[in-house]
Amino acid sequence: MKLELKQDHPDYVKVHCWLRRKYGKANKCEGDKCNNKSKSFHWALKDGFNYTKDRNAFFNLCASCHKKYDITDFTKLKMSKSKRGEKHPLSKLTKKEVEEIKNRYKFRVLTQKTLAKEYGVCEHTIHYIIKGRTWKN
Ligand SMILES: [Zn+2]
Repeated sequence: MKLELKQDHPDYVKVHCWLRRKYGKANKCEGDKCNNKSKSFHWALKDGFNYTKDRNAFFNLCASCHKKYDITDFTKLKMSKSKRGEKHPLSKLTKKEVEEIKNRYKFRVLTQKTLAKEYGVCEHTIHYIIKGRTWKN
């Protein structure tokens, strides 16, 4: 599943111009849980649709609902980023493996690169472990 933000789509402007030209400005909210508080309305792309000149792929949302609707994209994006383990480089390794890496590197028989490959982590992770900056307990 593609997780790029809708606003980043190359046809974003083109399709929105087309919508406005052909169907006018968005003037109502079709959101399920609308609180009817917002008075500005947008054309919103439905989930699972691509940016194309297809009226069925779009519906009207007020600014408030639109924000809520699109926020899921941000959340998904955030989640996919943290899943890649960028923030938790050690999450892939167990405590036992960390100890093992430290012990094996003690005698410098293996390079950090080799260890990284073997444990399926990046070299930085191995570097951190060896320097003892993490997992001190
Ligand atoms: Zn609404």
